[in-house]
Amino acid sequence: MKSSVAPKKSLGQHFLYNDHYCRKIAATVAFAPGRTLTEIGPGTGALTRFLYPDWRDRYTGIELDRRSVEDLYKSLGPEIRILAGDFMEIDPESWLNPEGKTTVIGNVPYYITTPILFRVLDLKDRVAECVVLIQKEVARRIISAPGSKDYGILSVQFQQAARCELLFQVPPGAFFPPPSVDSAVIRMTFYETPPERPGNPDLFRTVVRTAFHARRKTLKNNLKPLIQDRPVTSVDLSRRAETLSVAEFVRLTDEIAGMQIPSTL
Ligand code: SAH
Repeated sequence: MKSSVAPKKSLGQHFLYNDHYCRKIAATVAFAPGRTLTEIGPGTGALTRFLYPDWRDRYTGIELDRRSVEDLYKSLGPEIRILAGDFMEIDPESWLNPEGKTTVIGNVPYYITTPILFRVLDLKDRVAECVVLIQKEVARRIISAPGSKDYGILSVQFQQAARCELLFQVPPGAFFPPPSVDSAVIRMTFYETPPERPGNPDLFRTVVRTAFHARRKTLKNNLKPLIQDRPVTSVDLSRRAETLSVAEFVRLTDEIAGMQIPSTL
């Protein structure tokens, strides 16, 4: 599909215009009774054309570019529910499902991929799954295992909350204009009951971030602001954060939760 809106770099617009990939991405989310669908950045409707006929009044698109919003009404009809605004600022209650869970999908603007993903993560109790087309490099960071160079904050935080899979890659030529990086579609299926659950989710986030502060340093070094010189038994502090499994991060968090945390944190 050739776009009728000239792409703007400042909005991270790389429109998909290869129907094969549009169909393939749309087919990753099956319509489920009681579920709603939210599309981040529908743009000129490359994916929307394949999603909206199934989801109809259960579909919400969130699009920042007014020109695209007009285009969507023209091509898909005035009943389509589009919220014109910034996904990062719009009240989530305006797109979350009041009666059940939501599926989130999108070819997301690359300049704010991680903030968008963290926003979805914050809402994980209301989101069933999230299928996004993102930079392959970020996709790798989400799915990688301990010991890999890509394993970090994104891997631990998302793998604790969701089953994360890289579904397939999308070549730059499938977009207009083609991005300078490779892209991939990733699916995160949020657990009803995560296999590893920290007692204090906020502390888990702090521990993971602090542990990865300087990748080459040991846990003992990085975690100093949190634990000072207190002894830790759940993991060996001479290790580096990149070697710890999600389960080990959870155990470490639970142990730290039992300590007297300094009042500066
Ligand atoms: N889904 C379309 C467009 C993808 S490009 C396609 O595949 O062709 C990314 C889209 O996100 C653009 O339409 C852009 O305008 C929109 N966008 C950029 N920043 C946004 C934000 N903060 N909130 C919502 N949409 C945004």
